[in-house]
Amino acid sequence: MKIAEDIYVLPIPRGSQGADGFLNLTLILDDDNGNTLIDAGLPGQEEAIGGALGDAGGIGVRDLRRIIFTHQDLDHIGSGAALVRQSGARVLAHPADTPYIEGELRPLKVTPEMLEQRPQMREALERLEPIDVDEYLEDGARLELAGGIRVIFTPGHTPGHLSLYLERPKVLIAGDALTAEGGRLNGPNPSATPDVGEAARSVSRLAELDVETIVCYHGGVVDEDANGQLRRVVQETSRGRGD
Ligand SMILES: [Zn+2]
Repeated sequence: MKIAEDIYVLPIPRGSQGADGFLNLTLILDDDNGNTLIDAGLPGQEEAIGGALGDAGGIGVRDLRRIIFTHQDLDHIGSGAALVRQSGARVLAHPADTPYIEGELRPLKVTPEMLEQRPQMREALERLEPIDVDEYLEDGARLELAGGIRVIFTPGHTPGHLSLYLERPKVLIAGDALTAEGGRLNGPNPSATPDVGEAARSVSRLAELDVETIVCYHGGVVDEDANGQLRRVVQETSRGRGD
């Protein structure tokens, strides 16, 4: 799905037939500076991602120059290692999530309780391969791609979560700092967000941007009154944390 010039959202079915919803990866095409994929699905989804790259942007995995991870969670980095092997893409992430992505630390949210509740995650975890991070992205960094991309540090969902703001088309790639359902914007999923107070502060930071389109990894595209919806979510999330 094309959301702006050279910007595509790639919905990848989470389970078979999409019964468990979709993961919404983003592709940024840039002929001069190389193509960028934001997040990389669950382990074993490299073929589905390759197909989506072709359908949306007419490119293959080999044409990826870089992969940016919004954060360390399994459903975001899962096929990263396979895609890097096929493409030689550079990997970019925030330093606070890097030890988890590189396999030095166990993924933060994988606990015995979580595996008990969601046994299907055990298989995903077993298939997860560590990925070397080539470049750190810190708050305020600017990537000279697609008219300029600003890195916004949005911790809370994980300690090193980042969001990306594409300045020219005013697109916000929110990762899991925000969620959506049928075009309605919501705050981060509290049951998957260890630090809800920090996450609420991150939402406030995002609301300072002038946004036309928001891409939520879980829930997809929000383009109806994006600024207004963001302000509403700030109200809701700050109430949720009791101040
Ligand atoms: Zn996620």
